[in-house]
Amino acid sequence: MITYFWFELNLNFLLDTFAHKGKRKQLVEILVQKGITNKKVLNAIGTIPRHLFMDSGFVDHAYIDKAFPIGADQTISQPFTVAKQTELLNLEKGSKILEIGTGSGFQTAVLIEMGMHVFSIERQNELFKKTKLFLPKLGYRAKKLIFGDGYKGFKEEAPFDGIVVTAGAPFVPKPLMSQLKIGGRLVIPIGSENQIMTLITRISQTEFKKEEFGEFRFVPLLENKN
Ligand code: SAH
Repeated sequence: MITYFWFELNLNFLLDTFAHKGKRKQLVEILVQKGITNKKVLNAIGTIPRHLFMDSGFVDHAYIDKAFPIGADQTISQPFTVAKQTELLNLEKGSKILEIGTGSGFQTAVLIEMGMHVFSIERQNELFKKTKLFLPKLGYRAKKLIFGDGYKGFKEEAPFDGIVVTAGAPFVPKPLMSQLKIGGRLVIPIGSENQIMTLITRISQTEFKKEEFGEFRFVPLLENKN
């Protein structure tokens, strides 16, 4: 007697076609036109299948340079914003990074693709659970995904070479500054309605340098877990 085994294959899932790759190449060209120069950042965005990070209804929009809804009232950041923040981190392979606002996990994947050791915090339980299951399916393994409040940073693993905040912060949370290594870089959009992309570099135990890089628009950094 012959027994047949049927494996359920969801072909829509994890499908990355030539058409997707072609659109990704065009997206990378747009980012270059908008002023992104870091080759490793461009390479990561050219490699990662962004369409798989979005709800299926928006798949056609995945390679347009725009933010999009990902559920729980949140958005996947605009590719230019992800590229800009990663470029401002300006860190080498092997660096230890803390991300605040895991969301869809796209920024997390960019950092992992570049060889960073990534810790990432998300306050929305629904998104946290979804992304924790999803990222390893694409082969992206963060050092740790944390369900918690990013205002507090992640003391257990501090200090970090870099911290990137992917939601609009009304002010710079003190714990994030104190969890930077000397020479470490914090990339944080500051403001309520619109935000100014801000790079804070730790010069010494007590001194920090602040630089600004133009206006952006993010969903707000909210307090406590949800
Ligand atoms: N990096 C994400 C951006 C998602 S939008 C991506 O590329 O998809 C910002 C995310 O920050 C949202 O998922 C939101 O829930 C989360 N967030 C807001 N306030 C937070 C906080 N205090 N701590 C951790 N995450 C927070």
